[in-house]
This record gives sequence, structure tokens and C-alpha cells, in this order.
Amino acid sequence: RPVRRPSGGSRGRRRTPAKRSALLTVAVPSACVMGVAGIAAASVGGITGPGTDSGQKDTTALAAADPASVKQVAANNALDTQLAALSADARDFGDRASRTQERIDLRQRQAADKKKREEEAARKEALRPKYVLPVELHRLSARFGQAGVNWMSVHTGIDFPVFTGTPVMAATDGTVRTQLNSAYGNMVIVTAPDGTETWYCHLSSAKIRSGHVKAGDVIAYSGDSGNSTGPHLHFEVRPGGGSAIDPLPWLRSHGLDPTR
Ligand SMILES: [Zn+2]
Repeated sequence: RPVRRPSGGSRGRRRTPAKRSALLTVAVPSACVMGVAGIAAASVGGITGPGTDSGQKDTTALAAADPASVKQVAANNALDTQLAALSADARDFGDRASRTQERIDLRQRQAADKKKREEEAARKEALRPKYVLPVELHRLSARFGQAGVNWMSVHTGIDFPVFTGTPVMAATDGTVRTQLNSAYGNMVIVTAPDGTETWYCHLSSAKIRSGHVKAGDVIAYSGDSGNSTGPHLHFEVRPGGGSAIDPLPWLRSHGLDPTR
């Protein structure tokens, strides 16, 4: 770097380069600042005109008086505006793109969640029992075909010796209907999709009187309504809604044993 040395003594020669170096360090960033200062000066100068009361103002007026610099400032301002608009557009586009991506992500996530829920539901549906014993108690007080059970000459179902109010569950999926019968008392009848009817008799009350149920849903509470000698659940199976069959082999064929 060429250094113009002053004609002073050795002391001056040593100190001057240091001073110039400091000046240069300041001068480089101030070139940028000058641009902004120039804009400010130009506008101030344009309004106030050449000042006379202070040296500061004179300098300002002089800066404004340079038409090339004003023109340059104006061009820079226009460019800045364009750049700002472009940058805003770019930001806006970026925002929109990002929002679009978010919507796509959300939809994909929702679709994945839905698929997962459906798979989980299908898995649960496959695993859930399709046949259920009508009460939790695994014990019978009367079997099918037995003579002299209550009012029947031949017993048309099986009896579970349960207390009044014991929850009674649907043995199959199906649709529910209720009946009141002088012999059977309060009845709930579930018709399975294959047409098989299961009858639940001598109930104290029905919990579900109509509509669709799944095997294991509590549909009623046991009792001793109708022609009954004490609280119990009388359970019948009638394929196709016809004659009663022995529920025991039917239950066993579906993996259930009410005697164990
Ligand atoms: Zn019975």
C-alpha cells in the first residue's frame, strides 16, 4: 500500500501510517452509510435549500446539490422498491407453497390415520367373539328336553340359575325385538344374520328393545317374570325362527360351554 509520508521527523513518520490506517478502517464501512446519509441529505437539502447559519447545513445542501447523486439515489430507491416487491412476492409464494405443502401433509396424515383406524377396527372385528354365553355364570339348573320344568311338558331351552338383575348378553349379533308372554314373561328375541333366533325369557327388564346388537352386548336383566318358580334365565335357540333345538350342542359348536 503506498503511504505518502509527511516530511516531518522520525516521530511523525511512525505515527502517521497508524492514523491513516485508522481512517481507512472507518472510511470503508462509512461508504455504505454515506449512501443512506446521502438520501437523507438530499431530501433535507431539497426542502430547506442551501443553509447559511451553520457549516453542518452547508454540507447537507452541497450533498443535495449534486444532481448525479440524487438521480442515483432515486434509481436506487426504485430498485429497492422493486426488490422489496419481488422479495414480498417470493415470500408470499413461499408462504403459499408452504401452506399447500402443509395441507398435503395434513391430508396424507389424515388418510394414513383413517387407514390405521380402519385396519384397527377390522382387526378388532376379526378378533371379537361372534358367539357369547348369555350370562357369565357357567352352570345350568335345567337342560333341554327335561320333563316337568315349570309349565312345559318338555323343556324347550336351558336354564341358568342367576339372581334377578343379572346382565343378560346377546349370544349373537343381530336385531332385537321384545315380547310379553304369560308363560315366558318378559322376553327379548335376537335374530342373527343367518336367521337363528335366540330367546331370553323370564326377564325383569329389557335394556335394548330394538335395533342392532353385537354378541356380548347387554340386552336385558334376568328375573322371574311369567310362569317361573324363581329367578333364572331361560334361554332358547330357534334356527330360522322355527322349533327350538338343544342350545347346548349349538353353543358348543360355536366354542362355548355353559356347563364348564
Ligand atoms: Zn327354562
